[in-house]
Amino acid sequence: MSITRILIANRGEIALRIHRAAHEMGIETVAVHSTADADAMHVRLADHAVCIGPPAATDSYLNVANIISAAEVAQCDAIHPGYGFLSENAKFADIVEAHDIKWIGPKPEHIRTMGDKVEAKRSAGALGLPLVPGSDGAVSDPEEGKRIAAEIGYPVIIKAASGGGGRGMKVCESEDKLAALMQAAGNEAKSAFGDATVYIEKYLGNPRHIEFQVFGDGNGNAIHLGERDCSLQRRHQKVLEEAPSPVISHDERMRMGEICSKAMRDMAYRGAGTIEFLWENGEFYFIEMNTRLQVEHPVTEAITGVDLVREQIRIAAGKPLSVSQEELEFKGHAIECRINAEDPFNFTPSPGKVTYYHPAGGMHVRVDSGLYAGYSIPPYYDSMIAKLIVYGRNREGCIMRLRRALEEMVVEGVKTNIPLHQELLRQNDVLEGDYTIKWLEDWLEKREAE
Ligand code: ADP
Repeated sequence: MSITRILIANRGEIALRIHRAAHEMGIETVAVHSTADADAMHVRLADHAVCIGPPAATDSYLNVANIISAAEVAQCDAIHPGYGFLSENAKFADIVEAHDIKWIGPKPEHIRTMGDKVEAKRSAGALGLPLVPGSDGAVSDPEEGKRIAAEIGYPVIIKAASGGGGRGMKVCESEDKLAALMQAAGNEAKSAFGDATVYIEKYLGNPRHIEFQVFGDGNGNAIHLGERDCSLQRRHQKVLEEAPSPVISHDERMRMGEICSKAMRDMAYRGAGTIEFLWENGEFYFIEMNTRLQVEHPVTEAITGVDLVREQIRIAAGKPLSVSQEELEFKGHAIECRINAEDPFNFTPSPGKVTYYHPAGGMHVRVDSGLYAGYSIPPYYDSMIAKLIVYGRNREGCIMRLRRALEEMVVEGVKTNIPLHQELLRQNDVLEGDYTIKWLEDWLEKREAE
């Protein structure tokens, strides 16, 4: 059952993150890379590397045949998909398992269920998670849509069953616009995801985004590792995340966490998962479940001391959870800043050669990044180039340390959003933890107007 060599089907900081966990467990790593990433740090540090195609992700990091061949040729006994790319592709997970390679991820059937939002919502409801009020499944008839919307009350949001990345969503303020917006959402979903199915739910005006980290062993045991607050977003992209949430009490964390872990026990969930909620006026509303590791997982690691990637690998190897709910302690506060190669205020991507790089350091400061001086950030992929994760005994201390760390961090040759983070950490609302998913865009708009 043991794992001796892992193929890492990803790139950038997450490929390095997986490599590090593997090496600490005495496991060898095989990096795969596109031609554009031949000089990347994940390729340099891995024990072996295989080129799987040209720069475009569809030809390389999403190229199932080439990745499976690489795993076979390099004699890997497991594949870790990281996040993004193939991580939530149930068919890929099936293919990996059919080749007798361990899939370091949830059971394919669970990836499939949670990947369809209508199915996911139905399952979540059946498992006892609180839902956003809305249609009971897909809605195709505008008249039925009107009846449901009248019942839950306007505004409502029309969402695509196959949606992702905030696409295929339309907010509808009144009945006269509903039929047209259902049509528009369906068309958008059809062209983006090849599936026009939509459903309707109540549009929450000003919620926070709060998500719970869960872990299951696949045999009916599961724990939760508390919540992360990811409300600071721009265009549904998270910018800064923290754990714990400034608005959740310990009792509330344990109450909601138990609801989440019970749901995972009931489905015999395997591996890491994140259950995402919108939170408004003290109430949680399930929106979706991500069946993979999240970008922001290090803030949970910082406050629990649990290495989530190690845990994923252990579970894929058939070992039990290394920590029980009773043993798990939540200590201190952690914040992650996503450092992107982009203009800090107009957000235009800024790929190119990094001429100088100095990561932040010191006590309780972690930088997850594949950057080095002389590295050329390719224009083909995500603009996130580093994650700065800082821990403190309390939120105030964490913020002081984070400001100090941001001051130290230097990336030259390309633009980064470090100045945005520095400015954010001077805003009273951020210092007080008083923000919702609307806050960042409103603030940027006001800033622009000044
Ligand atoms: P995706 O998979 O496309 O990211 P989600 O269901 O996770 O879609 O929703 C993305 C974002 O859209 C949420 O973080 C929130 O900002 C907004 N959103 C989704 N559903 C609602 C709702 N019912 N009310 C208000 N905002 C919503």
